[in-house]
Amino acid sequence: MKLRMLVSLFLALGMIPLLSPSAGAEAAKDSTLYVKKVENLPEDFIFGMDVSSVLAEEKSGVRYYDFEGRETDLFRLLADQGINYIRVRVWNDPFDAEGNGFGGGNCDIETAVEIGKRATACGMKLLVDFHYSDFWADPSKQMVPRAWKSLTDIHEKREAAYRYTLECMQKLKDAGVEVGMVQVGNETNGRLAGEKIWMNIAYLMDAGARAVREVYPEALIAVHFANPEKADSYRTYASKLDYYEKNGLIHYDVFGTSYYPYWHGTLDNLSAILTEIAETYGKKVMVMETSYAFTEEDTDFSGNTIGSGGGIVKDYPFTVQGQANAIRNITDTVVNGTPSGIGICYWEGAWITVGRNSWEENHAIWEKYGSGWASSYASVYDPEDAGKYYGGSAVDNQAFFDAEGKPLESLKVFRLMREGQETELKADALEEPTVICDLAMPLELPDTVHAVMTDNSRQPIPVTWKLTEEENERMHASGPAIYEVEGEAGGMKARCYVSMIEYNYLRDDSFEEGGAAWKITDLKKADELYVEDKKTDSLTGSKHMHFWSAAKNSVEFTVEQTIEDLPEGRFKFAISIMGGDCGETEIYAYVKVDGETVGTCPMTISGYGNWDTARVPAFDHPAGSRVTVGVYVKCEGEGNGAWGKIDDAMLNAVTE
Ligand code: CA
Repeated sequence: MKLRMLVSLFLALGMIPLLSPSAGAEAAKDSTLYVKKVENLPEDFIFGMDVSSVLAEEKSGVRYYDFEGRETDLFRLLADQGINYIRVRVWNDPFDAEGNGFGGGNCDIETAVEIGKRATACGMKLLVDFHYSDFWADPSKQMVPRAWKSLTDIHEKREAAYRYTLECMQKLKDAGVEVGMVQVGNETNGRLAGEKIWMNIAYLMDAGARAVREVYPEALIAVHFANPEKADSYRTYASKLDYYEKNGLIHYDVFGTSYYPYWHGTLDNLSAILTEIAETYGKKVMVMETSYAFTEEDTDFSGNTIGSGGGIVKDYPFTVQGQANAIRNITDTVVNGTPSGIGICYWEGAWITVGRNSWEENHAIWEKYGSGWASSYASVYDPEDAGKYYGGSAVDNQAFFDAEGKPLESLKVFRLMREGQETELKADALEEPTVICDLAMPLELPDTVHAVMTDNSRQPIPVTWKLTEEENERMHASGPAIYEVEGEAGGMKARCYVSMIEYNYLRDDSFEEGGAAWKITDLKKADELYVEDKKTDSLTGSKHMHFWSAAKNSVEFTVEQTIEDLPEGRFKFAISIMGGDCGETEIYAYVKVDGETVGTCPMTISGYGNWDTARVPAFDHPAGSRVTVGVYVKCEGEGNGAWGKIDDAMLNAVTE
């Protein structure tokens, strides 16, 4: 049991249930992975894996193992698990003048050729992903390669893009690489290689596409965008491309998208927008990049894009099974939710840590071999981002390998979703409920918690909590606070957050909701008697009950609230008042049980800001009775108009 700071109380109350992964789930010898069959899955459906960082990883000492624990060639293992495409990014020149790599695998064309050769040797095709940049290109940046920077005429740049692409494709061809598809640009959301005008973007894409066709006439030409949740942007990209295609520029085959479940909208949306584009323009569609976290943990001392810090949980728990279910459902969407979906490609599924000792050790390795997302050398090209925030892998928790390079069961999903493997359902992760408990009332913890089952369905399962009587008493005696209580459910560690609070049984206790829960009886028809919105005149919040009346003896009213469902027990009531110019007064707070007054407390008005709090003596309330609490105000007035403010009523249970 851990005590947390009270400050987190309000955060916790509004919290969506967190999902905690099963601890130490050991990969069984026979796969226990639950995989629902994807119907209608074509034989030649593309299951791609981007492994652009793999050469840098291997140079950094990373080793990969097969399911039997033997060291293996990563490409062989992937091919055996149903991966039939390898994707690799290509940067024009990711090195500084001294030859130091920018990182991210230092992926120039030579790297792509090596990766391509190894993919080809294992019977997999290559998907070449030209960024047309010297380093990362994505929706936030599409920087021009340094060698093209001086080319201010778009036609010179177009020629340079053509020659560069031709040269690259020829190198791949000379090495005997099976290229199946080529992307002309990466996540080119309205920008490419420094160009922002669609005409110029189309020129560059066209230059790339022509060069590819000259060397690999059979290869598919793909365009690639990000943010499918912005469907209108996708409509724009597709219609712009269509316009230029009709005018003889950039003929392409595949409209590709990134789809990261944390950020990119629902699968229904993905299905709808890809279907629209496929049908409107007669294109093949594909998910070019996707991934999902199997754990919140970071293993390389370099923060991850998704994880404990981000706290974004979308549809699947961060477990090995959750990762597999995410991939299975994305595949199902592309196959059965679009008319011409040809594949999905997982992004950097093998980019794991280069060491387990320290950031310093890893940093030295990242700098030397380019196995982090960026090295400090990248500052010559991208000083504002990569050159400043360089580091390791931001996706080691989204790989298909643990930190030692052993494959996760989820890697089998590609192979298994062809036939399906519906193993016996088990709990895979537990939701973590929040319980709010009155300090004066017994703590009631839930008997069940919701489990996310291996098929991603939710169901309640019995839970036992580890909370001693002593701890329970201490929680009740220590004032408002938040506690974490641990337990066990379905063989997993369960957790529940308990907010111990002094519960106020009144509705709209500070008049912030406008006072509808309160009954006002205005006996003398005061000139003003209503809930006022004025922060400086409120005890807390911005609203309070306000009264003012000009004539003498024109103030007499009650403000009260009746509670029908108060639990049996001992309670106390308090309420505050301030005001002025009231002359002789008769003011008191009161409590009635079934219409009978059981307690009162007098109150005085003594000037602006002098809040007087009435505390009616504690009273007992039997089961089934109606409890009314309120304040009676009668002012003679001094002739200037009696005025006052009432705020912050409290009806709390009493611990005794
Ligand atoms: Ca990391």
